[in-house]
Amino acid sequence: MDRQRRKISILGSTGSIGTQALEVIDKLKDRIEIIALAAGDNVELLNEQIKKFKPKYACCSCPEKIEGAKYSSLEEICSNKENDIILVAVSGKIGLKPTIAAIENGIDIALANKETLVMAGDIVMQKAKEKGVNIIPVDSEHCAIHQCIKDISQVEKLIITASGGPFLNKSPDDMKNATVEQALAHPRWKMGRKITVDSATLMNKGLEIIEAHHLFDMPYDKIEVVVHPQSIVHSAIEYKDGSVVAQLGVPSMHIPIQYAITYPARYEGIKSKSFSFSQIARLDFEQPDYEKFPALKLAYNAGKIGGSATVCLNAANEEAVFAFLKGEIKLYDIYTITQKMLSSHNVIQNPTLDEIFEIDKQVRILTKENIKKVCSL
Ligand code: MG
Repeated sequence: MDRQRRKISILGSTGSIGTQALEVIDKLKDRIEIIALAAGDNVELLNEQIKKFKPKYACCSCPEKIEGAKYSSLEEICSNKENDIILVAVSGKIGLKPTIAAIENGIDIALANKETLVMAGDIVMQKAKEKGVNIIPVDSEHCAIHQCIKDISQVEKLIITASGGPFLNKSPDDMKNATVEQALAHPRWKMGRKITVDSATLMNKGLEIIEAHHLFDMPYDKIEVVVHPQSIVHSAIEYKDGSVVAQLGVPSMHIPIQYAITYPARYEGIKSKSFSFSQIARLDFEQPDYEKFPALKLAYNAGKIGGSATVCLNAANEEAVFAFLKGEIKLYDIYTITQKMLSSHNVIQNPTLDEIFEIDKQVRILTKENIKKVCSL
């Protein structure tokens, strides 16, 4: 029995995706074995998870507090060839180095960390190709596209859906003066705080365009965004002959997480209810409002410029979102600050990993200085 179980490690086990992944695995215990769990500061929850899932190894910011598993660093976990697949569900740039380590060791990746591809998509996808490593997206839109594609060479364009977030039907003024609570009140998806703010500004969709460009090797002018408030159609592709294939389902992250960690097999798992067209009754689609959500165009442009532009976009946006969450700036300032950082950035084409980390660091310093200026106004 044991030899048949797929062996997995989870980076970010106490976060939103990590905890939902463990709910999925709990239903598939006879098919999946956990090798390692890695968390940040939440040692209490990590220790509960260790007790329940019994991984051999664990990682967190205070190793001495780990109970019931041997400490292993993120890099060591990702170099451990016992793993068949690693779920990268940490948030932010911390996901990049371990992902590359796993790819270099020939371990497949279930990728829930956007920054990995936004910061270093060219490097990551090239290495995965060289090593024959599968990168299965967990992000619901990319997971949908992954399920629709049979032969990428026959695909004409990708159609990424966006729920539109909490401000879809609000006025631009309401949006500019939004409180943190309003920005965090996402109508469809339960996610972490940073990504929920990104969903309110549609920057999340912008980052997803960049992610899709790298994952599916698709030019930016062949990636379309459509607003679909019900979040039932998770994304679609159009083939060269005009045929459109979409993936549908109830909006639950359990489904894309399970797809990514059990691919290509499918199991009943955690599925709680069956899908019903008649209960949904209607599906709406509309063009995104680029004036109300300028972050979307900003991300498109950064992607088209390429090189280090997307590193700058990601770092500036992330620092600005943190400042918004702390109540230091307004929601709209996230865009103006990110736009300013991007327009003053000297783009390097084909940056190395070291250059990427250095640019990330410098942009964050400059962004924080700009945030201080905005605060003092
Ligand atoms: Mg998504």
